[in-house]
Amino acid sequence: GQYSKELLLKQSEIEGKVVSYPKSMPIAIKRAKGAIIEDVDGNHFIDFFAGAGVVNVGHCNPDILIAVKEQQEQLIHALDFPTENKIEAINLILTNLPVDMHGQYKVSFGGPTGSDAVEAAIKLAKMQTKRDTIIAFTGGYHGMTSGALALTSNTGFREKLTSLIPNVHFVPYSYCYRCAFRQSPGSCRHDCVSYLEDILENPHSGVPKPAAILLEPLQGEGGNIVPDNNYLEKLVSLAHKHGIIVIFDEIQSGFYRTGEFFAFMHTKARPDIITFSKGFGGVGFPISGLIYRKDLEAWGPGAHIGTFRANQVSLAACRAAIKFVNRTDLALHVGIMGCYLMTKLNELFRWCPFIGEIRGQGLMIGIEFVKDISTKSPYPEIVKVFRERCFQSGLLFEVGGHFNNVVRLVPPLIITTAIADAAISIMSTELRAAVI
Ligand code: PMP
Repeated sequence: GQYSKELLLKQSEIEGKVVSYPKSMPIAIKRAKGAIIEDVDGNHFIDFFAGAGVVNVGHCNPDILIAVKEQQEQLIHALDFPTENKIEAINLILTNLPVDMHGQYKVSFGGPTGSDAVEAAIKLAKMQTKRDTIIAFTGGYHGMTSGALALTSNTGFREKLTSLIPNVHFVPYSYCYRCAFRQSPGSCRHDCVSYLEDILENPHSGVPKPAAILLEPLQGEGGNIVPDNNYLEKLVSLAHKHGIIVIFDEIQSGFYRTGEFFAFMHTKARPDIITFSKGFGGVGFPISGLIYRKDLEAWGPGAHIGTFRANQVSLAACRAAIKFVNRTDLALHVGIMGCYLMTKLNELFRWCPFIGEIRGQGLMIGIEFVKDISTKSPYPEIVKVFRERCFQSGLLFEVGGHFNNVVRLVPPLIITTAIADAAISIMSTELRAAVI
């Protein structure tokens, strides 16, 4: 719309070029409710993007707004001083962990954004082990601050940066559709875990003993990739055999995105450190932090401080969001809606010769486009056209993947069947139009 264009122009003249999303979704936003965004020209969009996986309980969820208003009238900024609000938030987080983890973990808040939590996690792992090598994974995304960026595999993000943090070593993720070892899924003889085992156990690998292994239990920006069965368990047991700390970055896959509080809860794998952010701020209040095993308390008092850690309003929003999920059985709904979407997508997209894989868990779904099903050659060009057409028809989603060829569906978890059907109908029409 016209007014959107005007505002975009105005903003680009005064705000640095660091902004990214308006390029692919050129709208200025007026308001948002549930899973619907309204732009300044009065156009409505179905939001299958959820502010980068943040508004899991829906834009401006009324439960959260009430809690936030109450909190704002009482206390907003308290630094690290104890508050009932914070203690209750921590307890809620800890009690939503699997029972076998109860009593063994602590929470520590980072700064306002996800990258802050990643920085804190690698700092804690280094202090604890007194080592400094970190193993990270191809396709992984962890943020834009120096440490988090160094651990993010996409070299495009750090082309002009010559040094961030040293001693980061990337290994292949469990991405069966594009197996780095050219094995077929389910029957691999040499897999990504044995590769890592070789690195850790061969003194000639050139990799010093790592402090930590950092990965997303379900790779998000990398293309919503669900790792192979038992992959996380095998990885954790290998790491622990070598005294290496396992960090699961659940910043995107957490907060019920996959139908569990955290994605790793679909498995028996138990990490030493979990990073969280995004959905924990309820409807978009900034919050991030770590959940870590109590015996990893390597930092003394004041060793990791910051002015804006655990804002009281964000904590109140977090509490209200967890309570909302529990009250409405939202986790169950995520599983049901995830299956519904996957089934529909498989039915309606089956005719298309450019769809290599439809995958996901809960409401974290990826559709990978290829030029040819047998060569699996990535097809980012068609994804771009498809996304643009869907946008014109009122559906927003993000694109990602190792080759920018994956449509990433990450809607608010509260979507109804009616909204899912409307989104699928747009995708179905626009896929045909994009292909012809
Ligand atoms: N880790 C993961 C898995 C993420 O998806 C993101 C954000 N997309 C981050 C870390 C970084 O979070 P932030 O952008 O809030 O710094």
